[in-house]
Amino acid sequence: MKKINIAIDGHSSCGKSTLAKQLSKHYAYIYVDTGAMYRAVCLYALKNDIMKDGIIDEAALIDSLDNINVSFNYNDERSISETFLNGVNVENEIRSLWISENVSKISKLKEVRQKMVSIQQAIGENKGVVMDGRDIGSVVFPNAELKLFITASVEERARRRSLELKDASLEDIKKNLQSRDYDDSTREENPLVIMDDAIQIDNTNLSIEEQFNLALNYCQKAIYG
Ligand code: C5P
Repeated sequence: MKKINIAIDGHSSCGKSTLAKQLSKHYAYIYVDTGAMYRAVCLYALKNDIMKDGIIDEAALIDSLDNINVSFNYNDERSISETFLNGVNVENEIRSLWISENVSKISKLKEVRQKMVSIQQAIGENKGVVMDGRDIGSVVFPNAELKLFITASVEERARRRSLELKDASLEDIKKNLQSRDYDDSTREENPLVIMDDAIQIDNTNLSIEEQFNLALNYCQKAIYG
């Protein structure tokens, strides 16, 4: 079977990761959640006082980049791939609203992106990767055999996210999604764009299963022609 790279981009909390995990399981491909990588760098910056009150000491962060090691480990019990920052499991911490509110300031920095993109490209060198993020089809794998762009209404995305983030209000979650969408789409470095060769899926009214079946069809075509 021909191995391909599947690039999944889209707005914040639109179900990209859910779909990416389903597809990687189906094809026994490697799954990479690139958002988790930027979230882990953000956590490092916050914990080491490199970022305070929304202000980043850019020189200090760039100096620290070589000390930031982000890796993934599959947890059999939870059936998920967990994110590790310098060997410590940070999977739960990076999903908090605290990180969501700060991460776009970190992910817009050129040096941070350069480091993450080169790691991501190395992972995809031998194909057989499903990667989700904001710049996968545009920058990381511009030649990916399949590019999907996922979205949903902001109301629906906030509703779904609020089921996971019990401590945050629906209004705060919605505001965070809107501001991240804006920041991620308007930044100078590798902004979120819809590539001409990407297939768009609006899953506002789709179940997880319906979205998976739709995407699977596109994957089958990309693999088998
Ligand atoms: O996908 P997730 O919502 O976890 O991503 C968190 C943040 O990381 C995004 O809001 C964006 O700022 C950044 N990101 C990025 N490029 C990617 C993936 C995520 O800039 N490829």
